[in-house]
Amino acid sequence: MSNVVIENFIAGEFCKGTSGKTFEVRTPVDNSVIAVAHEASKEDVAHAVESARAALTGPWGQMKIDDRIDMLHAIADGVNQRFDEFLEAECLDTGKPRSLASHIDIPRGAANFKVFADMIKNVPSEAYRMETPDGTGAVNVAHRAPKGVIGVISPWNLPLLLMTWKVGPALACGNTVVVKPSEETPLTTTLLAEVMNSCGVPAGVYNVVHGFGPDSAGAFLTEHPGVDAITFTGETGTGEVITRAAAKGLRDVSMECGGKNAAIVFADCDMDKAIEGTMRSAFANCGQVCLGTERVYVQRPIFEEFVQRLAHQAGELTLGRPEDPDTKMGPLISLEHKEKVLSYYRLAVEEGATVVLGGGEPDMTEDLAPGAWVQPTIWTDLDDNARVIKEEIFGPCCHIRPFDEEDEVIALANDNAYGLATAIWTENSARAIRVAEQIEVGIAWVNSWFLRDLRTSFGGSKQSGIGREGGVHSLEFYTEMKNICIKL
Ligand code: NAD
Repeated sequence: MSNVVIENFIAGEFCKGTSGKTFEVRTPVDNSVIAVAHEASKEDVAHAVESARAALTGPWGQMKIDDRIDMLHAIADGVNQRFDEFLEAECLDTGKPRSLASHIDIPRGAANFKVFADMIKNVPSEAYRMETPDGTGAVNVAHRAPKGVIGVISPWNLPLLLMTWKVGPALACGNTVVVKPSEETPLTTTLLAEVMNSCGVPAGVYNVVHGFGPDSAGAFLTEHPGVDAITFTGETGTGEVITRAAAKGLRDVSMECGGKNAAIVFADCDMDKAIEGTMRSAFANCGQVCLGTERVYVQRPIFEEFVQRLAHQAGELTLGRPEDPDTKMGPLISLEHKEKVLSYYRLAVEEGATVVLGGGEPDMTEDLAPGAWVQPTIWTDLDDNARVIKEEIFGPCCHIRPFDEEDEVIALANDNAYGLATAIWTENSARAIRVAEQIEVGIAWVNSWFLRDLRTSFGGSKQSGIGREGGVHSLEFYTEMKNICIKL
């Protein structure tokens, strides 16, 4: 497979770039090389930013909104027409089960273009009539202009979906983009460039530069003064570095960062639903979902039963190749990440955890053994201040702790530097709302998890991010609002 070559995409053309450097892309299924990618140099990134700038005033900038909307629908259709190619590329890059990527990653990745195209068509504008001392009055009318060239830095856990979650609204609002996908997962971002060309998207509207973060394409892009705003999804530490880079020139940032999300399970929950939801929130995508649950708080009367049932179901998860229909869980993204997750598995034991399930490496067949496999893992009995309770692990694992009172569990859930998401399981809707209102997060689910209406706000509080995307909130970030005041 290593004869697959991944090139940068600048000004509508694929190119190797000028760095002379390449890097290997490996699949975590068995750690074999699946492609070789050309790393963009500082000059290549500058070229991409310049071509994005030129497109703003070229055919893209002059295109009627209706035509732009049609084009975004065509892009979504273009992804769907090549669904199987996108699916294969995403599963190769990430190792995730096809059953998951075919339901989530690819269809939602395509839908992001349609949702925001329709939104820009229907969004109302702001108008205020005001009194003036001379009695004639004035009217204020708001006008939304594109922000300009948007730098998009995306992660590896849901590569197409999280990248188009930014590119869709950015283009819908009339911006142009330079995307730097994760070095772990460059395939679908590159494939999307082919779709852009086949849909007739003008050169320079969508650019892709490949490489790493520091001293590579990521830093070159975020430090480039020609980038008007930066939208980032990834680790909080990386978000801090990028926010510093964006401070130069006072450029706007949207930060979707890490989480250490709590699930709260009350004794009056529907236990079957709570188990099913927590199975997904803790173990889907091998635990590599920013919204995933790594801390579970269960009310004492049902604690033992919950632990036993969750452990039983997690113990039944079949690990295997993406294409195997029986596969329920894939590998982690890389051997490096596997080492990080295993270091937390060891730390949990050092910190005094009772290992209810897993805690190490699974026995895989010889062909899969070199891959980034870890066991689904459940702990109990950790101290509330243990690092395993405080830090984001980003693996298929959770700690379960009993609680007695509502106030107690609210305090426990909030005792964390992150504030992304929570899932509350109870059949008492007054309690659900009361608790949800007090949890310091951007997204609170009641009796569900990962249920997303794309019109709603998405983002985290505390160290989980800055700003909100989704629905009109994306428009806030991707447009520059101008007030036009007309004296009558
Ligand atoms: P990461 O921060 O390591 O990398 C994300 C991207 O940033 C990659 O493209 C990387 O190359 C780039 N990058 C790294 N250093 C950079 C620098 N100095 N300058 C510019 N770019 C740089 O994150 P990851 O490991 O790819 O993703 C996992 C993390 O993402 C987890 O913390 C997870 O919680 C978070 N995440 C958050 C959300 C959300 O919506 N809040 C969604 C998915 C993932």
